[in-house]
Amino acid sequence: MINPIVAGNWKMNKTPSEGKIFSEKMVEKLGSKSSVDVIVCPPFTGLSSLVISTKFHLGAQNCHFEDSGAFTGEISTSMLLNCNVEYVILGHSERRSIFHEKNNDIGKKVSKVLSDGMKPILCVGETIDELNKGLAKQTVRRQLKLGLNDVNSLNNIIIAYEPVWAIGTGLTASVEKVSEIHSFIRTTLKDLSSESESNNVPIIYGGSVNSGNADELINAHAVNGFLIGGASLDVDKFVEIINIVDKI
Ligand code: PEP
Repeated sequence: MINPIVAGNWKMNKTPSEGKIFSEKMVEKLGSKSSVDVIVCPPFTGLSSLVISTKFHLGAQNCHFEDSGAFTGEISTSMLLNCNVEYVILGHSERRSIFHEKNNDIGKKVSKVLSDGMKPILCVGETIDELNKGLAKQTVRRQLKLGLNDVNSLNNIIIAYEPVWAIGTGLTASVEKVSEIHSFIRTTLKDLSSESESNNVPIIYGGSVNSGNADELINAHAVNGFLIGGASLDVDKFVEIINIVDKI
């Protein structure tokens, strides 16, 4: 039994004070008995400013795989742990395309985050070019294989399937497509590890999820929740999606 997850990726949005107001409102609006694991991923500067509550977990949007040193602009896992971070988004398509992150380095980050006791949310997904060339599954398989290359077990790993062409575009993958790729991810995880471990890995979908499409997407086969960008910036919309997922 996998607990549903709704994670909000704020990207480079919200100051620490805006984040604090958001978190206070969210905690007020969220029911006390939600079955959903809610994760909020503010920018690094906002990590210490959100209210502390059992109603949500704190996530970061990236980290480095080294412990410390001359890595200007980077952040370490111990710095994140010190801010009570439990989850780290890794390999987001914006990190891959804008900041040229490569699968091998993403793999090192996944292993570092796990060995330091946090949970990586490994993002995978094809570009529009790869989709049009029929390479979606090949891309996802490669990203999974290399992203998980340095880990011994799939425990505590979350996979986010985020087709790049659906991120921030208003385009969503069809329910059939999402089900097909999520099932493919589950099979690939089984090949890379074992059936029992792969069955426990949450596979969440990201790509223009909103309160209008959340219901049909969460009911798609093998979808265990969402990673949400744009719609996670508005507390009402975000809570609405959490409540939709809570109902399943
Ligand atoms: C994301 O950034 O991970 C994302 C899914 O963004 P959006 O919901 O805006 O498409």
